[in-house]
Amino acid sequence: MDTSADVVVAGAGHNSLIAACYLAKAGYRCLVLDARHIPGGGAATEELLLPGFLIDTCATGHTLIRVNPLLTGDELGLIADYGLRYIDPDPVAHVAFPDGEHFTMWLDRDRTAAEIARFSPADATSYLRMLAEYDEVKGIFSGSQFTPIGFGPSLDARLAEHPRGRVWQRRRVLSAWDIISREFSSRHVQAFMLWMAFQTNQAVDVPGSGLLAYSLIFGRQQRSWSILAGGSGQLTAALTGYLESHGGTVLCDKEVTRLVLDGGRCVGVETADGEQYLAGTAVLSTIHVTHLRDMAPADAWPEEFHYGIDTYDVGVPGFGVYLATSAPPRFETPDGPVTAVSAGTVGWPEDVVRLGQDLRAGRFVSDVPWLLVATPTLVDPARAPAGQHTVKILSQQIYELPDGMGDWETVKAEHARRQIARVRAAAPTFTDDVILGQLVKSPADYERLNRHMVHGAFHGGDRGLAGSGPMRPVPGWASHRMPIPGLYQTGGSTHPGGSITGAPGRNAAIVLLHDLGHDPAEVLSAPPHATLTRPAAAS
Ligand SMILES: Cc1cc2nc3c(=O)[nH]c(=O)nc-3n(C[C@H](O)[C@H](O)[C@H](O)COP(=O)(O)OP(=O)(O)OC[C@H]3O[C@@H](n4cnc5c(N)ncnc54)[C@H](O)[C@@H]3O)c2cc1C
Repeated sequence: MDTSADVVVAGAGHNSLIAACYLAKAGYRCLVLDARHIPGGGAATEELLLPGFLIDTCATGHTLIRVNPLLTGDELGLIADYGLRYIDPDPVAHVAFPDGEHFTMWLDRDRTAAEIARFSPADATSYLRMLAEYDEVKGIFSGSQFTPIGFGPSLDARLAEHPRGRVWQRRRVLSAWDIISREFSSRHVQAFMLWMAFQTNQAVDVPGSGLLAYSLIFGRQQRSWSILAGGSGQLTAALTGYLESHGGTVLCDKEVTRLVLDGGRCVGVETADGEQYLAGTAVLSTIHVTHLRDMAPADAWPEEFHYGIDTYDVGVPGFGVYLATSAPPRFETPDGPVTAVSAGTVGWPEDVVRLGQDLRAGRFVSDVPWLLVATPTLVDPARAPAGQHTVKILSQQIYELPDGMGDWETVKAEHARRQIARVRAAAPTFTDDVILGQLVKSPADYERLNRHMVHGAFHGGDRGLAGSGPMRPVPGWASHRMPIPGLYQTGGSTHPGGSITGAPGRNAAIVLLHDLGHDPAEVLSAPPHATLTRPAAAS
């Protein structure tokens, strides 16, 4: 086994795989190491419960990556050559409220507006106005997400050029609740909008979460909660397929424990089994930035970097219940039962706001007023044996349980039972009889599963004002270049953050390609199977 490569990549999440694929496209031999037994990180599909039930271990919804030029331009041929196929479920979402009322969002925006008008005609007008307003600036926000920090105008500078830029400069530092409470008057509509805004586990009253009240709902209205036919693991299969056909290698069960430094430069990594993997050109990491710091001597990092890591907020953890079932949850409504790939239950607006506050203050929440109930088999039946389903119930939670409560192993089964009971209150036919198998994952389990999900937080770190744009992960080091020469960072802890967006991966590739003397735009836009030559400086 060759333990050297041009670029050694630590971690095989979708972001680092994307970066590795672009580097392979430019002619670099990439070696990717992952601690798990399979690659993909949060983009994995496994038979977690029973044979034939293909369950997304983490992410299911891929709406956000759909606008990445990786896919809009099919820059790596993942769609044309590797068969990625997205499904846009309709209804987009269905949510049950505490008083027995329900709300269904549809791909037809007028139908969604009509549903809002059941609660408040004025709110339906606000909704359509908000969609139109965001449509005018969406290019500015996505342009800044898909550009590395320092490689184009700042978001503020981009907004300053827009006629209504001052309004958006204010909106982006408000909280989602500031926006939603101003735009909508019905408590049901407010609760639905908060349910949507909390989808990335970003507390809805935190300054800087305001944009989520626009961007998440806009994306869903455009292309629903898009899911990948066959499961999230198909993205990983396509990326590893591309990488391997371009001379790259992925090695699993390889936990990186140390950076190898030579003369102050990062020249490789060491894994838990003592093996060293050396990089001729660069090391790219998707190890959580708080762990990365511990993988080199303390004096290898400047004092400001230490401060940035000491004050890095890892974000709100998650809790999951995975079920193999003989029927989907059918939500009862006056018009008959409704099923939706993306469904849920939500409390009143003040409950959802308090949920974020409680969790951020470290308070355990026993009856979580926000549940996401994902049933992808409704539109992708091949993920389960005929007529059967996979259901995933997600919610937010804390990592460290209060004294006297015991540990997660003693608490999680009872906590899962409460969550299922909450779903059952809205979907009464979802009884124990339909549940064929069950698996529960606490925040501690998620952290054990994937070391990148520190404290069981899914999205690489909080995305409030202190953790976004040029602040992420640390002011001064937001352009994917780490303080140790030769070391680059990607993944959810870098701009623009977690979720399945592929943005940190593509952005990191742009920076690395630039530093290696390429014109990144040329590499990105070259046909997927072009043979590119390296600039003389990089050879
Ligand atoms: C239950 C759940 C549901 C989710 N649902 C959604 C959703 O529907 N939509 C969405 O957009 N997002 C969702 N997310 C979030 C999403 O999965 C992550 O934000 C995303 O996967 C981050 O991608 P990444 O490439 O940055 O890193 P990751 O996917 O976290 O991958 C990092 C990789 O690095 C490896 N690694 C870490 N440390 C080391 C080390 N020291 N040595 C070797 N390897 C290492 C890990 O094993 C992992 O494979 C969900 C997450 C969870 C847990």
